[in-house]
Formats: sequence, structure tokens, C-alpha cells
Amino acid sequence: MQNQLFINGRFVDAMDGATIDVRNPHDDSVVTRIAAADAADVDAAVAAAGRAFPAWSRMAAAARGRLLLRLADAIEDHAEALAQLESLDTGHPIRDSRALDVPRTAACFRYFGGMADKLEGSVVPVEPGFLNYVQRAPIGVVGQIVPWNFPLMFTSWKMGPALAAGNTVVIKPSELTPLSSLRIAELMAEVGFPDGVVNVVPGYGHTAGQRLAEHPQVGKIAFTGSTGTGRKIVEASQGNLKRVQLELGGKGANIVFDDADLDAAVNGAAWAIFHNQGQACIAGSRLILHERIADEFLARFRALAESIRIGNPLDPQTEMGPLTSAQHRDRVLSYVGIAQEQGARLVCGGTAPADDALARGYYVMPTIVEARPHDRVAQEEVFGPFVTVLRFRTDDEALAIANATDYGLGSGLWTKDLSRAHRFASAIRAGMCWINCYKRVSPGSPFGGVGQSGYGREMGFEAMHDYTEARSVWVNVDAVIPPHFGR
Ligand code: NAD
Repeated sequence: MQNQLFINGRFVDAMDGATIDVRNPHDDSVVTRIAAADAADVDAAVAAAGRAFPAWSRMAAAARGRLLLRLADAIEDHAEALAQLESLDTGHPIRDSRALDVPRTAACFRYFGGMADKLEGSVVPVEPGFLNYVQRAPIGVVGQIVPWNFPLMFTSWKMGPALAAGNTVVIKPSELTPLSSLRIAELMAEVGFPDGVVNVVPGYGHTAGQRLAEHPQVGKIAFTGSTGTGRKIVEASQGNLKRVQLELGGKGANIVFDDADLDAAVNGAAWAIFHNQGQACIAGSRLILHERIADEFLARFRALAESIRIGNPLDPQTEMGPLTSAQHRDRVLSYVGIAQEQGARLVCGGTAPADDALARGYYVMPTIVEARPHDRVAQEEVFGPFVTVLRFRTDDEALAIANATDYGLGSGLWTKDLSRAHRFASAIRAGMCWINCYKRVSPGSPFGGVGQSGYGREMGFEAMHDYTEARSVWVNVDAVIPPHFGR
């Protein structure tokens, strides 16, 4: 298990020798102690990325792509070990790490590996005699800051398009979950990425993260995390006016109409909120039910929630593991009191499990509360296995409730009415909408939000473009330009 910083192709200690304990969320034991980057380490990483940039950006795009494809293969070759590392570090059930996190990570690197030599420019039809063409040029050194909820997958979402487009990278994983990104760095070195092209600097946000966001030699900062931290990133980025991409929080509306296939909707709504213990920006954390089906739906949804197998994430039977940190567990549980103070009804959960075997871990039972649209639990991102149920009578009311939030990331709806489905998909203020499904993602489909959920997009050509600058080149082919001045 790698536990040092990865700078210029080598694993090194932090310059001041600082470390951070990485804990196992299942039992609070210390898994390892990792080097904690501070500003000086970030400076060294940015300098290494800056030195690596000229050669990397001039390398044939297909050769860059080939390295990403080799990395995807290496991830598959080490799939089981990576899945175990991710589950140990984050608390993801191993069945999800095996079936989702690892394959999706490989698929995303492979997608961008294939795209590296397909990033075409364009020719603009300007006046006769001139040729104008537009190149997509890499930005330079990009800084990437990621949270703890999907650390492995986010290495590919962030690094895939940036590297394919010819940028070099300094990535800061969360101080809570750095292990899989360090392992990815190791695999990158093994498959032949040149030194300095990727640098991994785990460390605290207010030190390492802050320095990366303000660094004058960083051309773009891509951030995934909370909306509050996103604002700090924008402030820190101002010194050199670097480009900023923000993937922030969410409060996903998941609307179930009275004509929906209830079996599918109950299952889908459970997946929308309880997958990864609800620690997902796109989680369907506001379940908006038509009043005609609400009681029956809730009874079935509650029964399903109470049947979810909670336990050690490394047990293949486990369907829900612990939250990633003790502090976060306490924050999630505090929302039960907040809900009740405002008159919300606790339908189920709201506590840690009674099982003694889980007592030292950061577990929370699937929690359902019924509230009103403007209650805090219907407005604030809880980021846990905590869903707020709201009821509606008319389509207009459903839309008003769905849009009564400052966030705008994921959303979903369940109906058999095709026209209504498309009408809502256009009218819900969100970057993504799922119809009769939830939480589908693909490396080819743009991912991101509006409003307080941020700006910029990950995945697909959108992401590649976000990691480039348009460079316009004018050529005088055979134009005769009359003199403006003199004779
Ligand atoms: P966070 O904002 O606390 O931390 C995210 C990252 O930013 C971490 O690496 C942290 O160390 C770093 N950081 C903290 N303070 C910083 C500072 N002042 N300067 C620079 N970096 C700093 O978020 P979190 O609690 O780790 O993650 C959960 C949040 O992430 C939720 O709000 C969730 O919705 C959001 N999220 C969004 C997406 C998306 O794609 N929109 C995806 C996953 C998670």
C-alpha cells in the first residue's frame, strides 16, 4: 500500500515529514499513515508538472492515448486488489467496488484514451484569401481536487480528459481517502507515463488544496466537493485568473407520478439514495411522491430500506457499508434532530445500527423522513442514507417542489406518460435528468450541474473541450491587403 506523495515519478515523504492517519470506517482502526502535502510539496509537484508539460503536450496524441489505454488494462489486471483497497478506505460495499467503481474507472480511462487523437479543431469559413483554423490547445498544468466519496472513479473522471488533451496534472485526493489514487499513480508509472505528467499530493484542504487553487503556475483548477469549499476555490483562483470547473453539492429531486411502475420506482428510489450510503452528489435525496400513491409507495419503500443488509464493506453480502468518517456520521445523524425540530416525521432509521459488531464503525441506518419543501432537510445536502419525502397533487406542484432548491445537479422521474416525461426533463433545473431510471453515468455523457451545483462538465467531448483553449490561426493564402496607412 503506497503511503507517500507521488511527485515527478517518485514516491516521497512530505518535506516537513507530516502525516495523516487513514482510518478504516468499519472499525475506526488506523489502516496506514500517509504523507501529508503542504504548500512546499504542492509547489514541487506543480514545478514537476510544468517541466513535464512541453514534451507531454507535443507527444503524438495517439501515443498519449495509448498510455491511457494501457492504464485501463492495468486497472483491470489489478481489479480485485483495487476494489479491496477502495472498500477498505471508503466503506463502499465490496460488491459495488467490484461491479461499479473499478470497471467504471477502467472504462473512463479507456474512453479518454480512445479520444486523445479525436480532438479535432475546425476550419472557419472567413473571407476569401484567408484560411482560419482553430486548434484545441492544452491549458498547461491543471490542478484537480477531489472529495472522498468516489476517490478511485474520480481519478479517471478528472485525469482522463485532462491528460488526453495534453495537460499535465497535480491531483489532491481527500485527506480521508487517498489510497486508491496513490495506487493509480503507481500503475501509471508502471505502464510508462513520463515522470511529472501526473503528481498526487494527498493533504488537507486548507493547506495543500488551498495552495493548489491559488498557485500562479496552475492554469486551471477542477474541483469536486462541497459548495462552500467551491466558493473558497473561486476566491483562491483569482490571483492568476485561472480557469475553474466546479462539481459541487446537490439535492436531487426524484419524482414518482401516480402512473409509474411502482416496483421499478421503489427499487430505483432506493438505489438513488442508499447506494454508497447516500454519499453521492447526484443522490435522489428528495423523494417527491404523488399523493395518490404516496402511502403505498412509502410502505414498500420503507420495507425495502429496512431489509438492506448493512455490514463490513469487505463482506460480499453487504449492501450498505459505513459512512466514510466519524465526523460525517455525526453530521448526518444531527439532521434527524433538525428534521424533528421543524416538525418532520421520522418514518424509519435515524440511528446507528443496534448490531454490536458494527459499534465502532461509522454506520447509519437507512433513514426516511417526511417533511415540507422549505424545511432544512428538504433544502440542505445531508450526504448520507437520508431521504426526505415530499408529497404533491398536480404536475405544476411537482415541478415547483423539484425546482425549489438552489442546487441543480441530478434529478429523476418515474412515469409512463411519455409527453410528461420529456416536458419535465426540460423543465427541471438540473444538469442531469433520468427518466424511469436513476444515477446512470457513462464516460460519454456530460456530467455536471447548474446553480449552486457548479459549472463546467466532466465526461465526453464537453470535458475534453473544458481542458483546452481554442487557438485561432489566420493564414494569408492569396489575399491582397490594401495598405491602411501611407502609400
Ligand atoms: P469538501 O468540499 O470538504 O472537500 C473536497 C476536497 O476539497 C477535499 O480534497 C478537501 O481536502 C478539499 N478542500 C477542503 N477545503 C479546501 C480549501 N479551502 N481549498 C482547497 N481545497 C479544499 O467536500 P467533501 O466533504 O470531501 O465531499 C462531499 C461534497 O462533494 C458534497 O457536497 C458532494 O455533493 C460533493 N460532490 C460533488 C460531486 C459532483 O460531481 N458535483 C461529486 C461528488 C461529491
